[in-house]
Amino acid sequence: MTPTPAPALLSAALAAAERGWPVFPLRPGDKRPAGHPERHCPGAGRCSEGHRTPEQRATLDGQQLAQCWQAAPYNVGIATGPASLVVVDLDVPKDDTDTPPTEWAGAADGLDVFAMLCERAGERLPTETYTVRTRRGGQHLYFTAPAGKQLRSTADVLGWKVDTRAWGGYVVAAGSAVGGASYEIIHDASPALLPAWLTDLLTPKPAPAPMPLAELSARMRNATAYSTAALRGELEKVLSAREGGRNRAVYFAAYALARMIRSGDLAEAAVSSELMSAGQSIGLPAGECRTAIRSGFVRGGALEVSAA
Ligand SMILES: [Zn+2]
Repeated sequence: MTPTPAPALLSAALAAAERGWPVFPLRPGDKRPAGHPERHCPGAGRCSEGHRTPEQRATLDGQQLAQCWQAAPYNVGIATGPASLVVVDLDVPKDDTDTPPTEWAGAADGLDVFAMLCERAGERLPTETYTVRTRRGGQHLYFTAPAGKQLRSTADVLGWKVDTRAWGGYVVAAGSAVGGASYEIIHDASPALLPAWLTDLLTPKPAPAPMPLAELSARMRNATAYSTAALRGELEKVLSAREGGRNRAVYFAAYALARMIRSGDLAEAAVSSELMSAGQSIGLPAGECRTAIRSGFVRGGALEVSAA
């Protein structure tokens, strides 16, 4: 595979900037940002007043872009937040073992899941918008961000293999190539406004206040004060879990509490139902929540692994 010559990549950077999308360089042939990560910041040069993230460095300035892309055949990153974009990233499975959770059974990839999501919402698949084919055959659907909202990137919020890139994220622009495979525009339309129903799904729900200990104790009949406090501690961890760490938070909570289920201090059904509501209240889909709890229980010795 011959690398894409630099002039083509400069054109790709300029084309994105002309659409009003601030761009920054990605490593040649790679999807990671060029330059140093925050943990290796030298605190000098462009970072003399503190580390500057790719999102902060992204620019529309043609002269800066020309200078940058003359130095190396960088791929092009679009800083979706500053570009006022919300890009729906429809991915494909990594391999044969990468299969959908029960909630999305039958789906072959992110596009299938997105179609199912639209159908469940009673909405049309919003395909009349700027679309890029990704290097592994997925799609990036570009939407204009709704006014007055700063949506952040999401993973696993909409569904299996359906992520979104907004503030805090970026996309590899059309014209870039990773591992010899290129990102190509497959529908050259103007980005449509993000449909309202998707905006709703992507707007974080305010985290519910942790339940008062007394109320939890009442619901955990027969539980000791110690085990009820432990349960509340685990629920609080789940409720404060960050995007991307939600599944893990539920899993670890189930794992930690498995010990008390084993010793008979907490009832499995009760713990399970509390973890389900905590997990779902932070936006984890029910199916994933259930799987994470089950895995945590099994790993923690509260459940026998049953034959499937
Ligand atoms: Zn830095």
